[in-house]
Amino acid sequence: MNNKLLVLGTIAYDGIETPLGSRDKILGGCATYIGLSASLFNNDCGIVSIIGSDFKKEHLKIIKDKGIDCSGVEIVENSKTFYWKGRYEDNLNSRTTLETQLNVLEKFKPIVPYKYRDSDILVLGNLDPNIQLDVLNQMNSRPKIIILDTMNYWIERFENQLEKLIKKIDIISINDDEARQITNEYSLLKAAKKISNLGPKFIIIKKGEHGAMLFNEDKIFSIPAIPFEEVYDPTGAGDSFLGAVSGYLSQTKKISFNNLKSAIAHGIAVSSFTVQKFGTENLLNLTQAKLSLRMNELKNISEFEINLNF
Ligand code: AMP
Repeated sequence: MNNKLLVLGTIAYDGIETPLGSRDKILGGCATYIGLSASLFNNDCGIVSIIGSDFKKEHLKIIKDKGIDCSGVEIVENSKTFYWKGRYEDNLNSRTTLETQLNVLEKFKPIVPYKYRDSDILVLGNLDPNIQLDVLNQMNSRPKIIILDTMNYWIERFENQLEKLIKKIDIISINDDEARQITNEYSLLKAAKKISNLGPKFIIIKKGEHGAMLFNEDKIFSIPAIPFEEVYDPTGAGDSFLGAVSGYLSQTKKISFNNLKSAIAHGIAVSSFTVQKFGTENLLNLTQAKLSLRMNELKNISEFEINLNF
């Protein structure tokens, strides 16, 4: 396997309101969070995305300085970058989208740079499934690992296209509400089975502050999230999780249930940093040393012994 990791997704400006404060027009977008998290691991990461001429040079530099290749990021003159605004209530697990301005996304025709057309890992971040499919079709051959994310916005608008795409991928990473929405099943086990019947071998279901689950054939893995007294901003937690999962896979180059378990643990640890500050702030200061300490914390809170032999 080569160590090229291609990420498709939004680079955005976000407006965020949480019980602990608000920010507007800050750097966000799923490709940003995925790329920044994946860059903590050993790989050659490239992003395919689109931005408007309002996008600040310093923001692009922040992404490039993490070693991420942005030759696949199109800049459209006289246009505005994708803008999303959301609000979190006291229960930080549920959020309301207040505004989605597609702007440059409306006419996005992605072009995968030649250098990344042979990437062994392709991450199809949360976007219009038609665009996700377009990028998949531009690859020279089928990537060894194709990972898909989506959200309610696209599920509601493009259900059929999404179903076609799900048939072509290896790993899906979605949250519990989205899994229920796609399958009309409340039980996450039933939902995972229905999704796996469509094709993907591995179903990852994110559960916000309750961690994540992995389903593969008849195997199940469940892991908690790290609890905090204060969560500042959950935005990007799912994408940071996904970036770390794919980054870990690109470094370890193995797709097995056990390796996915470790990948998911790294996803939980990286996303725990994201939620401790607004936007990408904490992620930008994250180092492998800090991540390693948090991995140990996560291990400590989730391992136990069985001492009784009934
Ligand atoms: P997450 O909190 O991980 O689900 O993702 C948050 C990011 O998703 C934000 O930075 C937004 O810019 C981005 N986002 C919000 N809505 C959409 C959408 N419809 N398509 C793609 N990205 C989106």
